[in-house]
Amino acid sequence: MKIDLHAHTHYSDGLLSPKELVTRAEMMQVDVLAITDHDTVDAVSEAIAFASQQTKPIQVVAGIELSTKWHGFDIHILGLQVEHTDPLFNERLKQQHRYRDERAQAINKKLEKAGITGVLSLASELAGVGQITRAHFARAMLELGVVSTMEQAFKKYLGKGQRAFVTPQWISIAEAVQWIQDAGGQAVLAHPASYDMSTKWLRRLVNEFASHGGDGMEVTHPQISVEKKRLLAELASTHQLKASSGSDFHAPGRWTELGRNLEFSDELTPIWHDWELS
Ligand code: AMP
Ligand code: MN
Ligand code: MN
Ligand code: MN
Repeated sequence: MKIDLHAHTHYSDGLLSPKELVTRAEMMQVDVLAITDHDTVDAVSEAIAFASQQTKPIQVVAGIELSTKWHGFDIHILGLQVEHTDPLFNERLKQQHRYRDERAQAINKKLEKAGITGVLSLASELAGVGQITRAHFARAMLELGVVSTMEQAFKKYLGKGQRAFVTPQWISIAEAVQWIQDAGGQAVLAHPASYDMSTKWLRRLVNEFASHGGDGMEVTHPQISVEKKRLLAELASTHQLKASSGSDFHAPGRWTELGRNLEFSDELTPIWHDWELS
């Protein structure tokens, strides 16, 4: 069974609509797909409704990827199997949405100070119905010819400590775990090996996440090294965290695809261990 527990739609910085994402997942023979947009569950109902109309429906897991702040790092916590219609959860998410809008204004101010204008209006247009993210700023800067790649937009302007960087005011890891579990979901530390931190800090991160009652962690992700994968497996076992994996799919591309590179050691307990999978 192919289980991909990390993917984005155009309700955050993914390029596909929920229907297009589900269609693509079917094409890639994914059986279970979690939709995990940044700080929103807006895609979930649409995706579930669409999937259920298919002749051989794939199972859509209601999910989210919450942005948190921890010692100056942006740490992402996935919520899986959340009650996406839960009123308290949706009320809480509005705080992150407001903050996304405020931060977008602040980023734009910094860009204007650097002599770069018109980015926010294009980024907002690109974000459309979805939450505005730095990825939209990067795309807008690329379209306006300010940079020649999205990577460069992060390196020169949007990344930590760069000219248009705004220190984020996200919730704490403890809050994210609480919000997810209050909504009946399981909290999973996302892509632990892709934070720009030393192994010592990574160990500390996993330890704290576990001590706040986190349920699982991603133990593999695209482009991970063999050593890092081994380290993640070790950390998951040590802290008795369940194992999760997903493609972190944002858009069809050379390096990213739904349902790819999801394998991990069968010595780990998968996060879907006690899920009802059809
Ligand atoms: P935000 O949550 O608004 O801070 O935006 C972060 C998003 O930007 C991430 O989820 C990635 O999809 C994207 N991103 C972060 N760093 C890079 C990068 N160096 N190149 C391209 N996209 C990036
Ligand atoms: Mn993203
Ligand atoms: Mn992430
Ligand atoms: Mn993601």
